[in-house]
Amino acid sequence: MDIKKNIESIRNDFPILSTSVNGNKLVYLDNAATSQTPNCVIDSISDYYKNLNSNIHRGVHFLSQKATEIYEETRFKFKKHLNANSTKEIIFTSGTTHSINLVANGFNNSLKAGDEIIVSSLEHHSNIVPWQMLCEKTGATMKVIPMNQEGELNLNAYEDMLSKKTKIVFVNHVSNALGTVNPIKFIIDKAHSFSAKVLIDGAQAIPHFKVDVNDLNADFYVFSAHKFCGPTGVGILYAKQSILEDFPPYQGGGEMIDEVTFEKTTYAELPNKFEPGTPNIAGVIASGIALDYINGIGLDNIKKYEDELLSYATQKLKTIKNLKIYGTSQNKTSVISFNIGDIHAYDIGSIIDNLGIAVRTGHHCAQPIMDYYKIPGTIRVSFCFYNNFDEIDKLVNALNRAVKMLS
Ligand code: PMP
Repeated sequence: MDIKKNIESIRNDFPILSTSVNGNKLVYLDNAATSQTPNCVIDSISDYYKNLNSNIHRGVHFLSQKATEIYEETRFKFKKHLNANSTKEIIFTSGTTHSINLVANGFNNSLKAGDEIIVSSLEHHSNIVPWQMLCEKTGATMKVIPMNQEGELNLNAYEDMLSKKTKIVFVNHVSNALGTVNPIKFIIDKAHSFSAKVLIDGAQAIPHFKVDVNDLNADFYVFSAHKFCGPTGVGILYAKQSILEDFPPYQGGGEMIDEVTFEKTTYAELPNKFEPGTPNIAGVIASGIALDYINGIGLDNIKKYEDELLSYATQKLKTIKNLKIYGTSQNKTSVISFNIGDIHAYDIGSIIDNLGIAVRTGHHCAQPIMDYYKIPGTIRVSFCFYNNFDEIDKLVNALNRAVKMLS
């Protein structure tokens, strides 16, 4: 699909885009925080509760069987999209954060003092804190791959840090704060040459380009539905089957068991072993509809169009005096983090919010990146395929007005 030609009809799929804020039409540029929801996804949730609501995997009755069927078909959609080997490798969670905690927990018994794990300096807090907690429990130590001014990882330093002691490497595919696309194939291959496992946080990649976990040979790949037009409260964890078989369960409860007695419990087969309790059934099914929706537009078309938005917005923003962009890698998604002179990001964010423009200000849950640049935070604009060029013009005009008011 040619997005430029169809932009109006795409925008019409998203009811929230016609919202007004203080009498101005909403310009939503905070897509890295969460993307907006198209009618087909909203309808899927409403349809579930109107026509399908029941608990899955347990009832013999019609509704339960139908809901189970659609829930499992959704698992198959994600397996196919990611090119995983089996639906046993797809676990539904409540989000990227939950998925990372589940994986970190899996190493509780195998990691020990003297072992090392490696994180990148570009991570979201949710790909730092669970691992720090793991280090506290096990005595393992964490090393950090440094970054440069462009917001890229220092791969020589990474190679130097790898050793037989390295057990896990965890890196995001795309930085949420800067948009940098990390060379994860290289990172994965090097880690594997030391038999270390690799978790890729794909929260900011899945909405923007196609990902093939088989080709990448990632051990774990995690992301959230709400970043690609799905609902909140659904995460997808891809993990190699052999690893999940060896992992202990993360949480105990119904559905994840084979047999329970007061003496002993045996666990269910994959994927149920990691999905205790009643899952977010409506949300999972709607996430599958969101996946169909973005695939209907085509991820290659999305990438091409968002690259154009990125380059137009970068040029336009550079016309603003004293504007400094953080994250200038050649390989980045449609995210621009910046500050203007020494004006506080929050002040600008508040003024342009009054004009109906939604951006994110602050540290973007990536404080180590802000520490590196010695700044408290940035203004971040992040585009989705439903944004248009007119919205970028509105952003730049609003920023110019804000600067005038604050200088
Ligand atoms: N990692 C990255 C790179 C993110 O952008 C986010 C969301 N901002 C997360 C992890 C956490 O995702 P969630 O809040 O959906 O668990």
